[in-house]
Amino acid sequence: MKDIKELIAKYETPGPRYTSYPTAPHFSPDTDKERLKSLALSSSAPMSLYIHVPFCRDLCWFCGCTSSVCRDQSKADEYVGLLDSELLLWCSEGMQRRQLRQIHIGGGTPNFLSAEQTERLGEIIRRHFSISPDCEFSVEFDPRTLSEEKVKAFAKIGVNRASIGVQDTNPEVQKAVNRIQPQEKNEAAAAWLRAAGIREINIDLIYGLPLQSARSFAKTLEDAEKLAPTRVALFGYAHVPWMKPTQKNLEKHPLPAPDEKVEIFLSAKEFFEKNGYEYIGLDHFAKPSDALIAARKNGTLHRNFQGYTTHAGLDNFAVGLTSISETKTSYRQNFKSMESYKSLILSGTIPIERGIILNGDDILRRGIIMDIMCSLRVRYSDYGVDFKSVFAKPLALLEKMREDGLVEIFDDRFEVTNLGRLFLRNIAMLFDGRLSGGGHRYSKTI
Ligand code: SF4
Repeated sequence: MKDIKELIAKYETPGPRYTSYPTAPHFSPDTDKERLKSLALSSSAPMSLYIHVPFCRDLCWFCGCTSSVCRDQSKADEYVGLLDSELLLWCSEGMQRRQLRQIHIGGGTPNFLSAEQTERLGEIIRRHFSISPDCEFSVEFDPRTLSEEKVKAFAKIGVNRASIGVQDTNPEVQKAVNRIQPQEKNEAAAAWLRAAGIREINIDLIYGLPLQSARSFAKTLEDAEKLAPTRVALFGYAHVPWMKPTQKNLEKHPLPAPDEKVEIFLSAKEFFEKNGYEYIGLDHFAKPSDALIAARKNGTLHRNFQGYTTHAGLDNFAVGLTSISETKTSYRQNFKSMESYKSLILSGTIPIERGIILNGDDILRRGIIMDIMCSLRVRYSDYGVDFKSVFAKPLALLEKMREDGLVEIFDDRFEVTNLGRLFLRNIAMLFDGRLSGGGHRYSKTI
C-alpha cells in the first residue's frame, strides 16, 4: 500500500461533496415550477423539515453559507412571519399535514432568534405538521450569541440535538478569520444545553484556516473533546473567493500548505479515533452510542444538504431563504435574495428559484453515489440494470483504486475500505454522469 500522503496528493482534485445528486450547479431556473410543486405535494409520507435562518451578528470570513449580517432583531420577527406565510402558501396549494421524523434549523445563526421568536417558530411548526414522538430535532448554535434563556426556549419547542459551531479555539486563528470565541463560551453553551435536557451534542470544527498547523490545532481538538460531543464534523475549509469574495480577507495571513492541511486532518482523525470515535467518512466522526453509527449499520444513513443524517428515504421539505428541498425525483431551491424571497411570498407565490427533475439515469446514479457515501458498499444487483456493462468504464477505473487499497472488488459488489473512506468523493465521482456540466468550480476533494 502506498503512503497515505502520496495517495492524498494523487487524488486531490476539485469535486462535489455530494450532498445531492445531481449537485446544486445543475439546478436550473427554467425547471417547470408547477411540476416541482406537484412532486412536493404528491406524497403524504413522513418527512424531514429544514428551516433556514439567514441572520448573523458578524460575518466569519471563511463562511460559505448564505447569511447576512444583521443587528436589528425586528428583522427576525418579520422573517419568522415570512416562514409562516410560505407554509400557508403550500397549504393553499394542497399540502397535507405531514408527520416530521426529523427537523433541522440551520443558518446563518438560528440563535439569532430571541427566545420569544424561537417559541413562535415552534408554534408555527406544530400548526403545520405533526411531530413523530422519536423525531430528531436539531439546531446549529453559535455560542457567541447564545444565552441560557434562548437555550431554554429551544428545549421548550422540542429540540433534542445541538450542533455547536466551535471551528478553532486558537485566538490568533480566530482574529484572522474574524470570529472571536473564547472556549469559556463553548463550555457555557454545552452546560446550558445539557441542563436544558439537550444531551446530544455535535461539534463543528474547520481545518485549513489561516495560521493553523497540526500543532496549533491539537489544542482545539482537546478543547472540543472537553465538550464531550457524540458527533464531530471536521470540515475542510474550501477557499472559493470567486464565489465568496469575503474569503479574500483570509489571504492576509498564510493558509496552510496542502501538506500541512493533510497533516492537520490526519492528526485530528488519529485524535478522534484514539478518543473512541468512529470515522464515518468525509468529514464526520461519531461515538459508538451516536445514532449515525446505528444508521450506518442498519442502512438508514443518508446525505443531504445538512451533511450525514440518520433517516434515509425521507423527503426533505425546506423553507426559508435559499433552502433546498428534496423529493424522490426532484430538488428545488428557494430564492437566495431576501428581496425576491419576500416580495414573492407577499404576492402569494411560493418562492422557488430553481430546481431539477431527475431522469432515470440521475436516479440510478444518485442511488449508487449515496451508497458509496453512506453504506460504503455497492451491490450490483440493487440497481435493476446490467451493472457491469452499464458501468464498465467506471469499474475499470475503480480497478486502479483497488490497487491503491481504496476499494475491494468482488464478483457481485465493491466495498470501500477504511483507507477509502478518505477518498469517498473521488470514488463517487467515477459514477457521476454530469461532472463536466454545470460550469461550476468545486473545492478540492481532500
Ligand atoms: S460561520 Fe456561522 S456565524 Fe459565521 S458567518 Fe457563517 S453562518 Fe454566520
